[in-house]
Order: sequence, then C-alpha cells, then structure tokens
Amino acid sequence: MTTTDRPAETGHSPARGTSIFSGRQAAVPTVFDRSVPGRRAGSLPALDVPAVDLDDIIPLAERRRDLPLPELSELDVVRHFTRLSKRNYSIESEFYPLGSCTMKYNPKIDETIAALSGFRNLHPLQPESTIQGALHVIHHIQAQLAEITGLPGVSTQPVAGAHGELTGILMARAAHLKAGRARRKVLIPDSAHGTNPATAAMAGYEAITIGHDRTTGELDFDDFRAKLDDDCAAIMITLPNTLGLFERRIEEICRLAHEVGCLVYCDGANLNALVGNLRPGDVGVDLLHVNLHKTFAVPHGGGGPGGGAICVAASLEPFLPAPVVTRHPDGTYAFDADRPDTIGRVHGFHGNFNAVLRSYAYILQLGSDGLAELGANAVLNANYLKALLADDFQCYVDRICMHEFVLDGRPFREHGVRTLDIAKRLIDHGYHPPTIYFPLIVPEAIMIEPTETESKQTLDEFAAAMIEVAREARETPEIVRAAPHLTPVGRLDEVRAARQPDLRWQPRQAAGQAH
Ligand SMILES: *Cc1c(COP(=O)(O)O)cnc(C)c1O
Repeated sequence: MTTTDRPAETGHSPARGTSIFSGRQAAVPTVFDRSVPGRRAGSLPALDVPAVDLDDIIPLAERRRDLPLPELSELDVVRHFTRLSKRNYSIESEFYPLGSCTMKYNPKIDETIAALSGFRNLHPLQPESTIQGALHVIHHIQAQLAEITGLPGVSTQPVAGAHGELTGILMARAAHLKAGRARRKVLIPDSAHGTNPATAAMAGYEAITIGHDRTTGELDFDDFRAKLDDDCAAIMITLPNTLGLFERRIEEICRLAHEVGCLVYCDGANLNALVGNLRPGDVGVDLLHVNLHKTFAVPHGGGGPGGGAICVAASLEPFLPAPVVTRHPDGTYAFDADRPDTIGRVHGFHGNFNAVLRSYAYILQLGSDGLAELGANAVLNANYLKALLADDFQCYVDRICMHEFVLDGRPFREHGVRTLDIAKRLIDHGYHPPTIYFPLIVPEAIMIEPTETESKQTLDEFAAAMIEVAREARETPEIVRAAPHLTPVGRLDEVRAARQPDLRWQPRQAAGQAH
C-alpha cells in the first residue's frame, strides 16, 4: 500500500479554473502556456519524394482537422522535462520511509547486469538452446529462493506480491480439490495486508477475519482456535505482520492448522526482515511468496515491474505454474511444461525476467552472510529509529519490532492535528511521508520502514525532522494543518482527484469540454 503525498505537476492549464490544487497553481505556468504559433523544435529537409494527399490515406471524416498542440522550441521542451525531473522524489535523491513498501536503495551493479546486451536483447520466443544463460539464471534463483525460504518448489512467474498470493492460493485450492476436499474458508488476521482477503475472494474462498491482541499486536490466538476447522483451506499469515511484529506463536499456529488439514500460506512480501535469519519453511509454512522488489533488488514504486516468486513445500510442487525451468543430466536447461497437476500459466513468458535477473545478481553479490546481515540491519534500523522517536510519538504496540513500526497519531488530535497533517508537514522538511492510515486497525496510523540501506546519520536527521514536526503540532498546530508550504502546489482535493482525474493537457480553447 502506498500513499502518494508528493504533489506532482500535471501540465494542468491554469486557464481552466477547475484545479484540484488549492491556491498556488497560478504561480506554476506549464510549458504548454509558453506555446507560440509557428515555433518548432526541429526542421525537416525538403521533401525529395512525391507528396501524398493525406485524404487518400485517412478519410477526412476520421481526421481531426484542428489539433492544437503546444508549439515550442527544443530548449523549451528540454527545460520542461528537466524541471519536472527535479520535482521527482526518489530514493536516489532522498530518504523514503514508506512503511510496507521497502523503498530501499538498489545497487547500480544490478542495473548494469540487467542491461547487459546478452540479456537485454533476448526475445521470449527464441529457441531454448539459445537462451541457456537466462534459463541458468532462473534455475539458480529457484534454488537460492528454496534455500532462503526452506521451501523447495519455486516459480518466478508471478510478477507482484498480490500475484504471488493468488498463485499460491490457487495452488492450495488445486491441492485440496485433488485430495477431494472442497473447503470454503480462508482465515486471515486483521493485521494482514489488504491483498490477502482480495486474493482469497478471487480464488473463490470466503475470507474469515481473525482479530489481533491489542497488547502483543499478534493474532488473537483464541479467536484463531475458535475459527479454525476442517472447512479452512488455508490461513494466510503475514510475517512479520503489518504492525511490523513477529508472530511468536507461528510454529503452534502451523501445527494446529495442519492438524485439520489447513495449509499455511505466509505472506513473505517483506522477507527483508527475516532473510538469512529465519526460513519460514522450517517453522511449518507450506506456501509463501517473496516480493523480489522489496526483499532483493528491483527498483519499484509507481507501478513498475516487480517479482512475486512463489515458494512451496515439496508436497505442493506438482501444482506450480508451468512451465518450470529444469536442468537435464547433461547440464542443459529446459522449460518443463509436462506437469499434469499444474495450475497453468500465471503470466506470459515466465514473468518479469529482468526483475528476477536483478535479484539474482543481488543475492550473489551479498552471499549468505550478506543476506543475514541485511535482515539484521533492517530490524536494527527500525528499532533504532523507533527508539529515537519514543518521547514524541506513541507506538501502537510498544515492543521490539521487525523491519518497520506503526505509530499511533491519536495524541495529536488534542491539538487539532491529524496524521495527514504530520505527513504533509514532513514534505516541507524534505522527506517523503511515511505510509499513513495503514494498517487499518491502527487509528491515525503512521507506518515507518527505514530499510536496511540507510545510515545512522540519515536516521538521526529524519528523527530530528519528525520530532520538530511533533513540536510544531503541539505549539503551532496551524502551520502543520496548512502544510505543505514549500511545494509547487498545496494540498490536493484528493477525493476530487480520484473521482475526476485530470490526466491530460487540454488546449485553452477546449476548456470546459468533456475529456
Ligand atoms: C507489498 C505487500 C503486498 C503486495 O505486493 P505487491 O507487489 O504490491 O502486489 C502484499 N503483502 C504485503 C505484506 C506487502 O507488504
């Protein structure tokens, strides 16, 4: 879940007077308003072939006669895009503490490897004999992920966390049906990611919510026991849960579930908290997806390509999406599509190969010791930052966290300040806001994930900014409520932005027309 609190320039024409932005937009002329009739960014040589009549090619009735595009010089265009690029907020310019999303730094060497021409120029329909290198990568990362998770059956076909979940639950369903068990329910703690109940519903199950223990932040064990029965196909448990906390009774949960033939699905999106230190397969998990883009190295955000590799226990391997990459005794690799119990393909061309490749390079780069250090640092950084904020912010559950923690913004209500205001004010201090109002079980939630790639210095600076905002909230709340003050646009009318998205520049003369 992301909250995009960073306002972006939309190329919106101020002339339209229907802006979703408050106040400041008149001060932001867009490149479109610099249009001068006849101005060009380039010129073409004189025509040296017979001219064709456009009417012969595209019938007049199907052509727009009037296409008022902005007319600009090359420099106008270059400045427009350069200016926009400077307004981008990215992990490569600033700290990005977006809880649950793991906006960590991805080393450049992984980009270099993904751009090697031998990989970049592959065509997905090339004969197997000519893509042995790519198959080697997929086969090896399958083995690496099996080792990391303790679950031997792996497919890198799913391209996102939610996609990995759906793949896994469809596999669980196939396994139950094959055994003649028509189960109807999937148990999901209320501290799960929202994609979990959506996945269960899409796979045809009824999602049954289990509450959480207000003191420990873990699932309500009595509620779990009361709802667990032989109609449960699976329990989907997020580890660490979305409060950033480890479920300490995970082994008992797995044992009790297995006693009634219920499979344990682990949402391992945030495996960066555990990698190298705990293998979910070893504590009884049957299926798990790993978000390659959160745990390893795939630049993400803005809906970019990701990876949601699915890892399963040996008994579930027959149901993996086909084809699976296998290795013949002579050392060559092949796609094995001859798998009678497979749930079928879940994506074309074996998923996002580039995301898999970057993660493979990253795993090799770190090695097993490096991965263990990664997991330890993710946890250390979160606990360090949490401790720095302890005097000024209230934690929803105050105990040692894993890779992230959730603050409860309710104490600021007495000053008329809400979590949204705090998030907006952090923008003025130069930071991307943390995730807010998620998880849903925490009122006024502020969810912070520093990630393992940040230094102590960065965490100290961010904590100082948070503490300053907390002080402002107490002493000058009106400043916080009106934030951000230093951005090109002020607060967005978010409801209107969602209901009436204004995604396209319209020429002035067309103002007021529907688009
Ligand atoms: C991010 C996340 C997901 C969803 O992953 P996508 O790649 O965005 O589909 C699912 N579960 C948890 C716990 C997550 O943090």
